[in-house]
Amino acid sequence: MTITQTYARQKFDEFNKLLFDSSLPEIPISIGKAVSYVGICRFKRSRTLFGRVQLYDFRLCFSSRFDLPEEEWEDTIIHEMIHYYIGLKGIKDTSTHGKVFRKIMDALNSNYGRHVSVSHKSSPEQARTLREGRPGLRVVAVVELRDGRSGVKVVPRNASRMRAYRNGLMLSGKVASVDFYLSDNVFFGRFPNSSALKVYFLDKEEIGKQLEGAVKL
Ligand SMILES: [Zn+2]
Repeated sequence: MTITQTYARQKFDEFNKLLFDSSLPEIPISIGKAVSYVGICRFKRSRTLFGRVQLYDFRLCFSSRFDLPEEEWEDTIIHEMIHYYIGLKGIKDTSTHGKVFRKIMDALNSNYGRHVSVSHKSSPEQARTLREGRPGLRVVAVVELRDGRSGVKVVPRNASRMRAYRNGLMLSGKVASVDFYLSDNVFFGRFPNSSALKVYFLDKEEIGKQLEGAVKL
């Protein structure tokens, strides 16, 4: 199914009661045509006189480009509601999907039999549909090294070249994992798009931030 505003609103109200003890104030919900995320919780950030960071102007957006089973839509809505809850309460987390986020997510998953996750996965079929003729979309390889460093590389949108990149890096013995994401974040435009066996080092938190809402391939 694809998502509508009415559905998202109805589910928000339902989960607010059931999972968040009706503690979340009403929030604007919009449906767009993004390909880089299934759902996202947006907000503005300001600093108080005393230097405290305050988040405000929360909004939830979902993309009508994705055709997902209803349960995945529900889990996506809950995922964004956790962001809203944390932001609203001004709780400081260790990263976008840090300790606080995961603790709430794990509790909801085990108490209510949900399957909320920290990445929005899409099936290979959906990823293929999304890839076709979409300028500005990039495949971003996220590389974790055995020594704890991490980095990214933009690679061609081509299954065999992606496989060759992953296999090439894994053969080096220095790499722990290579995962691919589909993103239209302009941030990744600065990295050359090639099959070269290179990694541009970035810290994990920055990678997570830039890939917020990206589609895992
Ligand atoms: Zn998230």
